[in-house]
Amino acid sequence: MRSITVLGAGVVGVTSAWYLAAEGYDVTVIDRQMAPARETSFANGGQISVSHAEPWANPAAFWRILKWIGREDAPLLWRLRADFDQWLWGAKFLRECTAARTRSNIRSIVQLGLISRRELGTLREALALDYDQLTRGILHIYTDQGEFDHALQQAELMREFGCDRVPKTQTECALIEPAIKQSTVSIIGGTYTAADESGDAQKFTELLAQQAVARGVRFRFGETVTALQRRGECVTGVTLTTGESVAADVIVLALGSYSPLLLRPLGVRLPIYPGKGYSATFGLPEEASSSEVPTVSLTDDGAKIVFSRLGKRLRVAGTAEFTGYDLTLNPARCDAMVKRARRLFPALSNVEDIEYWAGLRPVMPSNVPLISEMRSAGLAGLWLNTGHGTLGWTLACGSARLLSDLIVGREPEINAEPYRFK
Ligand SMILES: Cc1cc2nc3c(=O)[nH]c(=O)nc-3n(C[C@H](O)[C@H](O)[C@H](O)COP(=O)(O)OP(=O)(O)OC[C@H]3O[C@@H](n4cnc5c(N)ncnc54)[C@H](O)[C@@H]3O)c2cc1C
Repeated sequence: MRSITVLGAGVVGVTSAWYLAAEGYDVTVIDRQMAPARETSFANGGQISVSHAEPWANPAAFWRILKWIGREDAPLLWRLRADFDQWLWGAKFLRECTAARTRSNIRSIVQLGLISRRELGTLREALALDYDQLTRGILHIYTDQGEFDHALQQAELMREFGCDRVPKTQTECALIEPAIKQSTVSIIGGTYTAADESGDAQKFTELLAQQAVARGVRFRFGETVTALQRRGECVTGVTLTTGESVAADVIVLALGSYSPLLLRPLGVRLPIYPGKGYSATFGLPEEASSSEVPTVSLTDDGAKIVFSRLGKRLRVAGTAEFTGYDLTLNPARCDAMVKRARRLFPALSNVEDIEYWAGLRPVMPSNVPLISEMRSAGLAGLWLNTGHGTLGWTLACGSARLLSDLIVGREPEINAEPYRFK
């Protein structure tokens, strides 16, 4: 049996391990944390949102980002730094902003997202996983006519590629999620994607890791990988901080935002930059009414925040800040997010039990993840499953499916070319 070492036990690493073990490989997962999903997969927005396929890089992005520079509470904040990687990434991001590139990136994200949503449903049923999931769809809401008009065009494009995101009037939005009737901001309309879902990514990852252990996958927690070992044109193993070498026939790099750091000493630059985001998780009181606090997962597109009900909690998450590998909680950004949530749902003003968190999305300029072998870079045996940016939870199961198809040598369901490292 061939051995595979998966680097990273976030949602992408654990799903990869699961699918590869199902193919009969001898799988080991290495992670520096003491449990699965303790970094970016820990407290994200919870959305399984194929309808969120529009990348940050789109024709409207440049002027928006320019307008927001220097505003501490901006939905998307680019902090100019003396950081060559940030500038290089920024140039690549601008290249992805054309209408043609945006269209092509949306297609790649939707086609992987549709497979991923289906695979997640199959896994959930087969393994009886309960991770506070809700299958009530995702409603995008708009408070600005310009944003709404733009969204209607994007929704049309997504429908063309198979994602059923349909326009809704103000009245229809309120029928789907009655809690928005309480909003003190006027909601002018929305779009609804009935097949999208929500759920707790961390709970899911932990449960799947437990099932993977039962299937024979080994997890080595509390171990940091410091280097990839190479012999000729092949990667043959990894080195840990303890100095130990771990040999493997195949290595899967799923280190999220930290993936580029292991490749840099080998002369390869992965175009992934950390996109910091925040979440605020409200602990809801017993008496919280579903007519006041939403149960349908929502996206407030203008403010770049999402809402997901996770059992007795409401997770509000989003915004983006490009400021390197920094995880400090910026009070201005936390306040802006909570203020917006309370304007939409005034009942939240009485909730003081709020847990704040920040995570680093592994963002590709295109938001299309990298799922391919590094053979062309002289690193045979090293596979990438990384760079899932804003959609790692949505795309995890489909990415793992695609990765395992490619490793096994089976024809994948979709064209794998858009996800190849070039
Ligand atoms: C605020 C916010 C909201 C989001 N909302 C959503 C959403 O609603 N829907 C959605 O689909 N996506 C969402 N995302 C994106 C999603 O969370 C990420 O894309 C996803 O978690 C990335 O998973 P990953 O496994 O690639 O990375 P991670 O979860 O970061 O996993 C990488 C793992 O590698 C380990 N590691 C790193 N370096 C080393 C090393 N040298 N040695 C050993 N281990 C190492 C880390 O400990 C970590 O466990 C959101 C992200 C944020 C920040």
